[in-house]
Amino acid sequence: MPISKMDLADAGSPEALVKRILQAEPNLPVPVPIQELCTRLGTLRIEDLDTDEFEGGLVTDAKRSEGTILVKRGGEPRRRFTIAHELGHFLMAHHVPDQPGRFLCKSSDLLRLTAKAGDQRQRREVEANRFAALMLMPPHLLREAMVAFREPDLQHVLMLARDFAVGKETAARAYVHYHSEQIAIVVAGNGRVQRCYRSLSFPDIICGVGSPLPTGSLFHSSAHRPNVASDIAACSADLWIDVKRDLRAPALYEQVYLQPNGFAMILLRLEPIPEETAAERRLDEGWRHRFHSGRR
Ligand SMILES: [Zn+2]
Repeated sequence: MPISKMDLADAGSPEALVKRILQAEPNLPVPVPIQELCTRLGTLRIEDLDTDEFEGGLVTDAKRSEGTILVKRGGEPRRRFTIAHELGHFLMAHHVPDQPGRFLCKSSDLLRLTAKAGDQRQRREVEANRFAALMLMPPHLLREAMVAFREPDLQHVLMLARDFAVGKETAARAYVHYHSEQIAIVVAGNGRVQRCYRSLSFPDIICGVGSPLPTGSLFHSSAHRPNVASDIAACSADLWIDVKRDLRAPALYEQVYLQPNGFAMILLRLEPIPEETAAERRLDEGWRHRFHSGRR
């Protein structure tokens, strides 16, 4: 690996940093050798963190001349994400830790995707997570992998997680953003919505975080086996999205992947309404409007 920290001197955002690293490492293999990158980029040591309170940490000086990444023992995908997250703190010079010389990150920090306006701590955690996701699943390699995935299917998420050695949720988030169809993945824990990732064109989901999964969802069918993605089945669109009265409901499909720990992923796929049908619908609405307003 030819890269060094010098190559990154003026890259401040996660996107700019990853771009530089990828320019210097055009032949990065999959899974990305994150520990090797850490060594190259100046974070010399990776040590176990013996506490339940934190998921990871970074001990370094203000100049970032070197550092030690601390990471909680656990599964490899989780450790890799934590290492990449801490590497992000290390490389972004504007990240200032709460205590001098020491970043400590909780599991909630490693899940954070949005920050309250003006909250610098949250903002830096969001940036470290963006860096980690981009570094572990570099866009050009992800696009290459996605070419094989046409019809949306949770099997693909499992394949991405395996190939890139990342957690299923990290893979799910990337899958939703890079797939060309209108899809969303709901992460559920103990029958309730925990998090939800949507493609740009997928409408808002009406079940808020913390609310129980809709009773009509495929999730409640008793046929699921843990660690096996279910068949894909049609469901009523208004279980998940707001369907306007008077309008024909779009077709919505569900697929469920149950984990033995009580967590589940539910893939939602919205079928686009064909062009002529949309035109017909507009015509229909026009007639209805004229009817209601008394003009014929
Ligand atoms: Zn952090």
